[in-house]
Amino acid sequence: MLALDGGGSVIPEGAVAPWPHILDEDRKAVLGALDQATPWHWPMKAVQELEDAWAQFTGMPYVLAANSGTAALHMAIAAAGVEPGDEVLVPADTFLASASSVLQANAIPVFVDTDIETFNIDPGLVEARITDRTRAIIAVDLNGLPADYDALRGIADRHGLHLIEDAAQAHGATYHGRPVGGLGSMSGASLNGSKCLSALGEGGLFATRDADEHRLARRVLMFGEELPGQGRDYNARIMGWNYRIDVLAAAFARSQLTRLAEMSRIREANGAALTTALAGIPGIRPPVIPDGLTHVYFFYPLLVQPEDLGLDDIPVEAFRDALARAVNAEGLGIMRWQPQPVPAQTLFQEMRGYGRGCPWSCGHAAAGHAYRPEEYPVAEEICRRRLVLGQSFSSLGPPNDERTMLMFAEVFHKVLVEERDALISLARGMA
Ligand SMILES: *Cc1c(COP(=O)(O)O)cnc(C)c1O
Repeated sequence: MLALDGGGSVIPEGAVAPWPHILDEDRKAVLGALDQATPWHWPMKAVQELEDAWAQFTGMPYVLAANSGTAALHMAIAAAGVEPGDEVLVPADTFLASASSVLQANAIPVFVDTDIETFNIDPGLVEARITDRTRAIIAVDLNGLPADYDALRGIADRHGLHLIEDAAQAHGATYHGRPVGGLGSMSGASLNGSKCLSALGEGGLFATRDADEHRLARRVLMFGEELPGQGRDYNARIMGWNYRIDVLAAAFARSQLTRLAEMSRIREANGAALTTALAGIPGIRPPVIPDGLTHVYFFYPLLVQPEDLGLDDIPVEAFRDALARAVNAEGLGIMRWQPQPVPAQTLFQEMRGYGRGCPWSCGHAAAGHAYRPEEYPVAEEICRRRLVLGQSFSSLGPPNDERTMLMFAEVFHKVLVEERDALISLARGMA
């Protein structure tokens, strides 16, 4: 019997370890930073160590730690020389910050539809969106899988555009052997507590290959000032903010980064084991990984397909919501994540922006920008059919292992095979 109907649940309480995975060495690192924290001065040792370690990990020569992924992305947009009214291409299905970091520079996000197999920006649709105002492409490595950088690099080079990587969901994944964070000309990553590289609290990492971009990004990080190094002169050159990371968060992330390669291999193996175990269970489509890429499963995305079960009369939405309720009741945390593509959000529908319609209306942008959800049919279809595992309540990260993944798969087997009739009547009731 489904746990939802009073049966025993497949996954006992406490059987799935939460994310992030905290060890004694992480506790020691945070306490060590605490002991070194006075007198306060910038940059602190723990911050510099985090920056150096990420530079080493990604192969990017210049790294700045920031207080969020959103801040790191805004630094990249500003360092790319993006100015009011300029356009930046962004995948339609991503987290808001990929696009709001563009608005923060008073520039205009222009969305590109995504690919149903990889969930990432569809390179075949990018060139149609390029205008003489386009300055950059933001490629997002969604769910933990790198975007198609060979194709995107070709397009960016042909049109003289910056290729900025939003690496917030994919630390530790690789693209033909090269690490996420080092796949674009610049990158922004998040260290938010839930992410594959976690600061426990909040944090972000900006990276670039270019010394001038590094200097510009540092101004944005710290009040528009030149520095640090030569002593502060308290003279803002440009608009800058306080994007400095908390030292204790930096120390935690630095300690986690020591284990990132190993944790990524475990995530990769767990995801592969789960996909194998889900093979042949109808009604859900597990993720597909292109040759030469690795996936670290910040999210393990599933697309629901009631059509597989011959349930053409049940709406996809009802089947999806019934499945999610049944799976959650079995003790496995599953959720929809975003219910709609980013351009469908109210911010883009109303285009109020900073007020008075800026940046769309303040004289620098091309006239006639509009965000029509029907221009992103694949992203819409993904949002309609997607359920995700991952994060804290169904983490694919260590110490969860292949046995944990077999338990996850058992939930789907129970709900979609053994108790299929109960699930179908639940879905009919929700239609
Ligand atoms: C989490 C996330 C961000 C923003 O990072 P924060 O640290 O939360 O500001 C940006 N892009 C994507 C794809 C994300 O998942």
